[in-house]
Amino acid sequence: MEDIIRKVLERKKAKVFSPLTASQCGYEGIQDYCRRKRVFDFYFKENVEGFEPLQEIFLRGLFIEMAYIEILRQEYKDVKTGITGYYKGLKVDPDVIVNDKIVEIKSVSRIPEKVKELHRIQAGIQMLAFNLKSEIHYVKVDSEGIDVKVYDVEPLKQEEIAKILDENKKVIETIKKNEYPEIPQDKMPNKSPCSFCPHYHMCWQEQEQINLTLSVEIDKYYELRQRYKELNREVKDLKEELEKWEKAFPKESGRYLIGKYLLSVSVIKGGQEIKYIKPDIIRYHIKKEEGK
Ligand code: SF4
Repeated sequence: MEDIIRKVLERKKAKVFSPLTASQCGYEGIQDYCRRKRVFDFYFKENVEGFEPLQEIFLRGLFIEMAYIEILRQEYKDVKTGITGYYKGLKVDPDVIVNDKIVEIKSVSRIPEKVKELHRIQAGIQMLAFNLKSEIHYVKVDSEGIDVKVYDVEPLKQEEIAKILDENKKVIETIKKNEYPEIPQDKMPNKSPCSFCPHYHMCWQEQEQINLTLSVEIDKYYELRQRYKELNREVKDLKEELEKWEKAFPKESGRYLIGKYLLSVSVIKGGQEIKYIKPDIIRYHIKKEEGK
């Protein structure tokens, strides 16, 4: 029996959802949304399936969700599961519908103070697909005990729906062109969603490697780079200043004694080439005569 259970559990891996699923929706600026992740989830399913921390959380969440639905069944007569719907091509599959209200169960390690943005969008699309009200039930189960918090979900506003649909279009166009989005400007390796992303190594691995070798020296590098920039600016200014003086220098090859300085002038003649005219190149060398 143990073997059978193990095999079943092995099959219960976190699924890679189609990019056109309500749970994948969002748009730029929404907390924890990343277009690149959405596209990568589609391209690199093996990253998701092989990401052990995610699988652990998924399995834990699955058990909590099953137990939670069982409790709902005991308390309510009208409890429906396994229902799928669609909204403008988006697949929608709510966890459970209780007395004509969608209930989305989210297992969490900390009960949030308000509905998380991506959950709000997912539930909002479910409401549109089924024309029903929706609640999000956050459930925390740990050594401290069990905690539950239920939030009503407000319907999505028209302008937000437009943003979500527009973002979906962009995702699909990117996938059709076999491209992938750049790392968004607002993402950082040590912050959510990157810090817990199955594609982290594809976005930030190089940075990690550099961190390993340069973490101690990076301040020094930064100072040198700043100094280098300043010097470059100074060199440019000095070059311009020198050129002003050189305008008054002789333009014929030869050596000229000017006060206590010996000025050598060499002229490389330019000329007409097949395609272009080469100008004369004049080089100056100036030396202070010893003892003068
Ligand atoms: S690591 Fe960050 S930037 Fe890269 S795909 Fe994941 S969430 Fe997006």
